[in-house]
Amino acid sequence: MPLEVQRINEGTVIDHIAAGAGTRVLQILSSSYPLNGMAALIINAPSKKFGRKDIVKIEGVFIDEKIANRIALIAPEASVNIIKGGKVVDKHHVEMPTSLSALVKCPNPKCITNFERAPTTFIHEGKYLRCRHCERVFKPDELA
Ligand SMILES: [Zn+2]
Repeated sequence: MPLEVQRINEGTVIDHIAAGAGTRVLQILSSSYPLNGMAALIINAPSKKFGRKDIVKIEGVFIDEKIANRIALIAPEASVNIIKGGKVVDKHHVEMPTSLSALVKCPNPKCITNFERAPTTFIHEGKYLRCRHCERVFKPDELA
């Protein structure tokens, strides 16, 4: 019998998170929004596409594009379902932005952005992101 998780009437369901990335997605959400309602993390759910996937459900929170972009760094295949009145009113894939500004800190401790509180900008290069200030290249999940 499949694990039953209560449906939510108002909120966001993030589906198709790569197995293992769900806890970090939930961390991003809990540090970005006040989570007053129910939240559920389902790990290793069966998936036709991936074999296994993680799912996060949060009640009373409708995630915005900025946070969806952050989630894309660690779960590039994730889909976002906005639920209102018990129905899916919007469904879209997260998208890794072509450039990320002021969203994340540069992991290079010597980068000038960490001294001058300058806004960071990362440029997409294939599977990697390059800091415009120190020119270092990072994997997306290093920035998330
Ligand atoms: Zn940098």
